[in-house]
Amino acid sequence: MPAPRIGIFGGTFNPVHTCHLRVAEACRKALALDRIRFIPAGEPPLKRHDLAPAAHRLEMVRLATEHIAGFEVDAIEVRRSGPSWTIDTLDALCAAFPATRWTLILGLDALLRIDAWHRPDAVLRRVPLAVLFRPGARFGQLAELSALAGVDFSPLLDCCGRDPEAPLPLTSADGIRLTLVPIPPCPVSGTAIRKALTAGTEAVEGLPPTVAAYIRTHRLYR
Ligand code: ATP
Repeated sequence: MPAPRIGIFGGTFNPVHTCHLRVAEACRKALALDRIRFIPAGEPPLKRHDLAPAAHRLEMVRLATEHIAGFEVDAIEVRRSGPSWTIDTLDALCAAFPATRWTLILGLDALLRIDAWHRPDAVLRRVPLAVLFRPGARFGQLAELSALAGVDFSPLLDCCGRDPEAPLPLTSADGIRLTLVPIPPCPVSGTAIRKALTAGTEAVEGLPPTVAAYIRTHRLYR
């Protein structure tokens, strides 16, 4: 049996929204991954503002994904104490499932904040990365990051010789494997949803119905 190809989709999921689901599926298809594993951060070191308790965020991700084929949820970061550093999760998953071919999936905005990561050079080289387009940023901004200085961005500049909608693999001589995934723009964010909920908006756009019901029941983001 061939080794499974699984995308690791981490985040605060505060709360999980429809764009998380849409972009994860677009990435699964674009890279022909077998499954996407959603991993909510237990203690996100970089996003502590308005943070719902980890158990609630985990449960909302469970509700949003439970009926979607190819999606699964892992509580590894919620169970672990201390800050949820991505490198610790990658090390644990690679050690526990050495045959699996893991890909770390993240939005363009998340990679652009790489300077705030813990051991970014290790994260970049541990597994291949898939970077999803996100409105508000350009893939070209990645070429300005010093952590990615060794990556050959010349294929990105070749506007005429490639399909702009196809995934674009980039590499560095020292082991970075990065695929840019130009998915259709999806404009929802957790920040906008929390703002609408806090303002008392009745029908907040971008929430899966089961997640909206859970938020109401548990009076989250009030
Ligand atoms: P917040 O506004 O609270 O920061 P968020 O949805 O941007 O919410 P996370 O829940 O941490 O943040 O997102 C998890 C992952 O999903 C990150 O890698 C993020 O870049 C990506 N992501 C979230 N929303 C989108 C989107 N609309 N398009 C592309 N990627 C997204």
